[in-house]
Amino acid sequence: MSARPKKSFGQHFLHEKRYIERIVSAISPREEDTMVEIGPGEGALTLPLLAAAGKLTAIELDTDLIPELQARAASVGALTIVHSDVLKVDFTALARERGVAKLRVAGNLPYYISSPILFHCVEHAGAIADMHFMLQKEVVDRMAAEPGSKVYGRLSVMLQLACRVEPLFDVPPGAFRPPPKVDSAVVRLVPLPPEQLPDADPDRLYGVVKAAFAQRRKTLSNALKQVMSVQAIEAAEIDPKARAEVLAPADFVRLARAATAQAAD
Ligand code: SAM
Repeated sequence: MSARPKKSFGQHFLHEKRYIERIVSAISPREEDTMVEIGPGEGALTLPLLAAAGKLTAIELDTDLIPELQARAASVGALTIVHSDVLKVDFTALARERGVAKLRVAGNLPYYISSPILFHCVEHAGAIADMHFMLQKEVVDRMAAEPGSKVYGRLSVMLQLACRVEPLFDVPPGAFRPPPKVDSAVVRLVPLPPEQLPDADPDRLYGVVKAAFAQRRKTLSNALKQVMSVQAIEAAEIDPKARAEVLAPADFVRLARAATAQAAD
């Protein structure tokens, strides 16, 4: 296929066989898996995934790509293409429709909405067994960053509280048509089991993390002023003079719980 890739849809099609094979091998699809691909494009990943799993649901926003992909898949396996913005797809309902507890999700993501897609998937993490995504390398670095790192922030904390984050390998711009301006990387996300999920109100947790990193140079007592008192920070056994960038993800959970307790007082 040789459709002109559309910039507005974040289209960078993978063409280097070596990387396609590495991604498919990292995913290691099996016949019993219920695979979902985000943004199949011209099918670089779709067709090998379909060949291995026998069936696959692909979510694509660009109507122009759908007929040809559907035709090419016909001899390979059962491909269902959902024409939609992935942010509007309810993965929990999709798993229920397919009669499975968990989906396996993969995709070479459109970079212009990579963070919203990650947060959307995390919201449905209970219905997802694992995710394999191609992203900007800089985003993968932020997702996997540890406290103290310059790139540790909101994305690191929120993702690490929901999933095990495993960067796999880097992919150079030349592997795509057209080449993106940035390096890319493949990451595996495995949602944590329910007993390891944060025991805190999700909105409160999000609010605390957002406020803490909005002013990452400031001490927590300053950055969290609108969210909780110094006494509540101390009740969480966190030093109010510390900065957000040195706290572990679990520390934010304690802060969120203390903020909830303060609000209830
Ligand atoms: N998987 C193909 C590959 O590796 O060659 C294409 C990857 S390309 C980086 C991203 C794909 O996501 C494109 O096919 C694009 O049309 C699609 N896309 C863009 N925005 C989308 C959205 N909001 N929902 C679903 N698909 C989207």
